[in-house]
Amino acid sequence: MDEICEKVSAHIGRQIVMSPMRLGHRHMHGLLVRTDTVDYIVYESETSQFHRDHIALHELSHQLCGHRGQIGRDESTNALGRSAAIDSHSSDADEEEAELMASLLGMFISEPARPTRADATPDHKLLQVMRSFGLLEG
Ligand SMILES: [Zn+2]
Repeated sequence: MDEICEKVSAHIGRQIVMSPMRLGHRHMHGLLVRTDTVDYIVYESETSQFHRDHIALHELSHQLCGHRGQIGRDESTNALGRSAAIDSHSSDADEEEAELMASLLGMFISEPARPTRADATPDHKLLQVMRSFGLLEG
């Protein structure tokens, strides 16, 4: 997974940070948060390794495919600068493409899945963006 992440990062020329966290949403298991400097891949931590990998690959696929998603409503006022959250609001076509790509990428992940060196604690900037989108309580 780290390898795929690095390749995608090199391909799109952006820093990617994996951020597992407890989302607890019924329908949304992952999302892509873009800021000026970093792309965060946020994915549900309370699920199986297989599911976590799939969610992360799905979000990476959105990046690979260049999907734009929704630009944050706080675009102009947010002190963090431009930020965008992708997913749960993306078009059906984008979702299908990302799902297909994620399944294809999944075949390259060796079994048993290797642990990612994901950050255990998401950084403050990310949490701030997540809150501004109403994605985190508190
Ligand atoms: Zn998606």
